[in-house]
Amino acid sequence: MEQNNTQNDFTIVRMDKQKRIALVAHDSRKQDIINWVTVNKEKLTKHFLCGTGTTAKLLAAATELPITAFNSGPLGGDQQIGSRIVEGNIDFMIFFWDPLASQPHDPDVKALLRIAALYDIPVATNQSTADFLLTSPLMDQEYNRKIIDYTKRIHNRTKAFDNNEPMA
Ligand code: PGA
Repeated sequence: MEQNNTQNDFTIVRMDKQKRIALVAHDSRKQDIINWVTVNKEKLTKHFLCGTGTTAKLLAAATELPITAFNSGPLGGDQQIGSRIVEGNIDFMIFFWDPLASQPHDPDVKALLRIAALYDIPVATNQSTADFLLTSPLMDQEYNRKIIDYTKRIHNRTKAFDNNEPMA
């Protein structure tokens, strides 16, 4: 019972009107994301943009939008984005991934998608979802994300450890 209670404790994290959007595309989808960002340039200008190294550089060159580039995905760029999601500095992701090819950094991709789900950030993994997200009225509003209250969770886990009880 206690386990369920701890799992139901959430913290509200406010997303600003200006979203901090990570843009990522696997190689076979890079032209697709360039086309999508080009078509949606006006809307995306209002937001802070960043991305994995190659995707960000190609997008910046094609659209002249300011885009912060992290390392290339296979060199840890997905993990950098994941860590910024954890820190609360990225709150939105467009990730055009290739469902027909395995990647050298598949574990990083899986970790990034897991972190994004955990931190309740909107993620589009294909173009139609990206279209729906970007045309949502919530893009121009503040929004309350609901994430697990880790402070309480960690406190309960350490308390269980101290008491020699099973940990949640
Ligand atoms: P890239 O990385 O933009 O550096 O190609 C994308 C990815 O995660 O595969």
